[in-house]
Amino acid sequence: MSEFDQYDTQAIVEMDKAHHLHPWQFFDLFRHNGALPIVKGDNCHIYDTDGRKYFDAVGGLWCNNIGLGRKDMADAIAEQAYKMSYASAFVDLTNVPAAELAAKLAQLAPAPLNHVFFTCGGSTAVDTAFRLIHYFQNCRGKHDKKHIISRKNSYHGTTYAAMSIGGKPGDHPPEFNFISDIIHHISYPNYYRCAEEGMSEEEFVDCLVQEFEDKIEELGGADKVAAFFAEPIMGAGGVIVPPEGYLKRMHAVCKKNDILFVSDEVVTGFGRLGHWFASEDEFGIVPDMITSAKGLTSGYMPLGALLFSDEIWEVLNAEGSGRCFPHGFTYSGHPVACAAALKNIEIMEQEKLLENVNEVGPYFEEQLKTLEDLSIVGQVRGRKFMVCVEYVADKQTRELFPEELDIGKRISNHADKLGLICRSIVHLNVMSPPLTMTRADVDFIVDTLRKSIELTVEELR
Ligand code: PLP
Repeated sequence: MSEFDQYDTQAIVEMDKAHHLHPWQFFDLFRHNGALPIVKGDNCHIYDTDGRKYFDAVGGLWCNNIGLGRKDMADAIAEQAYKMSYASAFVDLTNVPAAELAAKLAQLAPAPLNHVFFTCGGSTAVDTAFRLIHYFQNCRGKHDKKHIISRKNSYHGTTYAAMSIGGKPGDHPPEFNFISDIIHHISYPNYYRCAEEGMSEEEFVDCLVQEFEDKIEELGGADKVAAFFAEPIMGAGGVIVPPEGYLKRMHAVCKKNDILFVSDEVVTGFGRLGHWFASEDEFGIVPDMITSAKGLTSGYMPLGALLFSDEIWEVLNAEGSGRCFPHGFTYSGHPVACAAALKNIEIMEQEKLLENVNEVGPYFEEQLKTLEDLSIVGQVRGRKFMVCVEYVADKQTRELFPEELDIGKRISNHADKLGLICRSIVHLNVMSPPLTMTRADVDFIVDTLRKSIELTVEELR
């Protein structure tokens, strides 16, 4: 008897279909197909209820950094749950894992970012940043500094403010309302798609920087703009690695205009790019705030964190102000989640996972690039353990396939059958594997993706 015999797949799928509204549920498709029930994880692999094994190259949802199903993590979580499963961090209570984790994050983050607010995930870290920005600007007497600038096609989460800061057109359907009076979107740094023909990368960056400066001017100048949000590498927006110098120059515009730079490292943090945080170590900028989640616990527990600078802290903490920051979640600083994060960091340190990313990452990029010889692969891009393949109907003109064709999904469906999970986003396949991935795993991913693309090309003939 197999360990999977206990599951009645059909019954689980029907139960789920009847009662479970999924994030980003496409109703018509879901009504027919339902969802694939996953029951077991082991490092990079997941198993469905029928015992089928898949290599999960998406790392869950960009969050499985240390690998699934680890006993050391389960033990750390169980031990903390048994000792102290919940303690509020409101006002004047704290707990040991929260205090230790705050200190550890201050040590790992760029030097001036020594302060941490704990949240329930990435979106709530972004919402917390949004509120803290206005609070900070008001506390220091800059009452008109209200506008927020972010980028088209960015993703910053799903709560009201986070979704408004995000700029993916598909996430802004007319059925929803958004904060539009103080949040503004400028172009994103996609050289492959957005640069004019014949433009060098440097000229493209000049245009983007100019657009940023023009937007600040249009909003009334430096006194009106509070903050700029950017993911160092855009994730859900299509793994957009910015051209050389882009982030540094955008950061310089922020500094010149006294605008806070918020680096959304929910995906890029905790090793995905071979560093604890990518802003400084990969891109040479020190932001005023960093939002973090996902790899912070490798998805073993839900947890997010907003890290912010001494400069902000000193304004909030001014002696005798009588102020209170009226913001917090029941689960801010949750002891079990913080204990999971501490163990996760310890494992990453002991098993030298950042080193593995720096060693295997370039091989992954190089091997994946070989797919560019296929007729429908327009571009392979990304860095280290954060990559994507973009499909085109015509390599010369870079024309995309019609959306209804759902090219990314067609390819990932073939990959599923061959035992590889890669996420499709319309005309893309996106991957962010666990940091434990080996060179042999890379070979499996690249071979399987090649076969899946070839099968799709045949099907389209
Ligand atoms: N920020 C970025 C860059 C993300 O990619 C995500 C999620 O994918 C979020 C924020 C939101 O995080 P969460 O889903 O944990 O709320």
